[in-house]
Amino acid sequence: MPSNALIKEFQAIVGKENVLESEADRHSYSYDSAVLDPVVPDLAVRPTTSEELGKVVRLCNENGLPVTPRGSGTNLSGGTIPSKGGIVLLTNALNKIVEINEEDLYAVVQPGVITAKFAAEVAKRGLFYPPDPGSQAVSTLGGNVAENAGGLRGLKYGVTKDYVMGVDFFDVNGELVKSGSRTVKCVTGLNLSALQVASEGTMGVFNEIILKLVPPPAANKAMMALFDNVDKASATVAAIIAAKIVPCTLELLDNVTINLVEDFTKAGLPRDAQAILLIEVDGHPGQVAEEAEKVVAICKKTGATEVKAAKDEAERNKLWEARRAALPALARAKPTTVLEDATVPRSKIPAMIKAINAIAKKYDLTIGTFGHAGDGNLHPTIMCDKRDKNEFHRVEQAVDEIFDVALSFKGTLSGEHGIGLAKAKWLEKETSAATIAYAKALKKAIDPKGILNPGKIIGG
Ligand SMILES: Cc1cc2nc3c(=O)[nH]c(=O)nc-3n(C[C@H](O)[C@H](O)[C@H](O)COP(=O)(O)OP(=O)(O)OC[C@H]3O[C@@H](n4cnc5c(N)ncnc54)[C@H](O)[C@@H]3O)c2cc1C
Repeated sequence: MPSNALIKEFQAIVGKENVLESEADRHSYSYDSAVLDPVVPDLAVRPTTSEELGKVVRLCNENGLPVTPRGSGTNLSGGTIPSKGGIVLLTNALNKIVEINEEDLYAVVQPGVITAKFAAEVAKRGLFYPPDPGSQAVSTLGGNVAENAGGLRGLKYGVTKDYVMGVDFFDVNGELVKSGSRTVKCVTGLNLSALQVASEGTMGVFNEIILKLVPPPAANKAMMALFDNVDKASATVAAIIAAKIVPCTLELLDNVTINLVEDFTKAGLPRDAQAILLIEVDGHPGQVAEEAEKVVAICKKTGATEVKAAKDEAERNKLWEARRAALPALARAKPTTVLEDATVPRSKIPAMIKAINAIAKKYDLTIGTFGHAGDGNLHPTIMCDKRDKNEFHRVEQAVDEIFDVALSFKGTLSGEHGIGLAKAKWLEKETSAATIAYAKALKKAIDPKGILNPGKIIGG
């Protein structure tokens, strides 16, 4: 616990009202969206200006106090659990959109800006910010950059890293480090922005982020293809990509997910379908018409029982709302939801789905699988009850096996949810001991006292 004198120093920087010491406040920041045990921080501190942010980081470093930056706490890998105690640094008051530049197609934001609010502001100016994590209504842009968040449009438009032009961040001494630029091209200095992306708060604390904007597509068409067999659906994903069509969205929902989403949303999803693909193509109207026609033909050839096209914007929105409801719907089924993020080269999707179903059977678990099938990024979701020790042991074994299979297919531990605390133990399996040693050496040089979100990604 920090001394009273130190608490007073935090209060002098951010004001008394922004140093949260009560039991209830501290418990509120002890957990995030991962299924991990909470750890209560000593304090939560909420800077309201850049200057305060830098001073808070410096004070933590001077006192060797761990600091865990926190946007909205929606991460699924334990990145905001203050596992070594210390302070949770809240970014929610740093929520200004500093600039939206329509001439040069970029924006400058503070880290606490909510993703969907930003996308809406950009859209009002006739521009487009594509990254759209399912959590966008609450997640922050700082959290998105720190996790390199993806979303439903990743297949065609890429993920957060593809939109980061620069990140200005505080080092542990509270000095402002500038990286990147407002220009399309910039090779000045080391690529420090890239180091910050996906660093999960372990390499610096973001102050301002420069994000690329693009013109929106002129037209789009959303479709739903129904399958009586999940293998046919996953084979269709591979066939669409092999036909050199890159939809902006290509999502898969299995039967377990379809039914839970339908219970929750009453969106009119076909309960008896074993799998559905939600597909959207976008671009120039001529290209959209041609690609939509080809997609329908491919789906029929690979065994879709029906392909329905959204007739208007309202039907299209209904489809995407249903998809966005997948995780909340699955989370309602049982007390504990273990959402995984195993990602494979997309040609391996059929084999991965087969493997997940076999693992569910082997460990007698209910696994609903949905996800960004077009990116090879699946979210096998295990519905269970953590209090049932026997069942949870089987869950842990199943998760180990899911990762083993994904890595055997040359896949990755995380497509978009990060490593955090949750997956640190598997990191060496995907990378190597030398990779971890290199990252640790880098971390030691940047953060000698190990105060920046310790224990995340590389453990320690
Ligand atoms: C229902 C649901 C759906 C989701 N869907 C998706 C999805 O489709 N795609 C996807 O990629 N993820 C998804 N996620 C995961 C999560 O929303 C993302 O990881 C998101 O980017 C986290 O944003 P946040 O503001 O909540 O960050 P937090 O969870 O608060 O923090 C995430 C990490 O960023 C660090 N951080 C935060 N701010 C800063 C800063 N200023 N400087 C340095 N580090 C910082 C934190 O220390 C932490 O390590 C989903 C989560 C939920 C609950």
